[in-house]
Amino acid sequence: MSRFVVLFGPPGCGKGTQAARLKDALGVPHISTGDMFRDHKARRTELGQRVEAILAAGQLVPDGVTNDMVRERLGRDDARKGALLDGYPRNTDQAEVLDGILRDLGRAVDDVVVIEVPRKELIDRLVKRGKDSGRADDQDPKVIENRLEVYRAQSEPCIGYYERTGKRLHRIAGVGAVDEVTGRILGALGVKG
Ligand code: AMP
Repeated sequence: MSRFVVLFGPPGCGKGTQAARLKDALGVPHISTGDMFRDHKARRTELGQRVEAILAAGQLVPDGVTNDMVRERLGRDDARKGALLDGYPRNTDQAEVLDGILRDLGRAVDDVVVIEVPRKELIDRLVKRGKDSGRADDQDPKVIENRLEVYRAQSEPCIGYYERTGKRLHRIAGVGAVDEVTGRILGALGVKG
């Protein structure tokens, strides 16, 4: 059951955790722009050095750089049948570019999954992840606040964009056990776990 699914929601809602489980059930690669940027940072590539301070501050990497990286990734063979996009798009300009990239490939966004988690729980989870993983942008409460604000102001409007453009939009409660959330998403997508 191959398709292009956008996994959407605020920092800490569980997109990465869920994507790792969903990719096998869907049979498509997991494409996380955050993971790709962190990988560049770890390898000290030119791009990694360019984005390091932006990631640490919890700001968005400029659209041009981000869109080019996603276009290249979606052009690879393993993404021909579909992909699970995690952390992209993050604003409506990116959402429009993604539509264009997929149109050029003769495809389209098939489903948008919005994972909803109360703000208080998001903050608790991000602080915990910061302690467990050492992830740079989870360390400082101010950076966490900033990422939630960036989400509200810049990313959340993508939901309206997808409603207006008539995509199948699934709002999923992202609270409770990880397995339960996975089950809700697979149920909404009509896929057996
Ligand atoms: P994430 O792992 O999805 O929370 O992303 C970590 C960081 O990578 C974000 O705070 C941004 O700095 C950057 N990033 C990830 N995806 C995007 C995107 N689609 N557009 C711009 N910046 C992004």
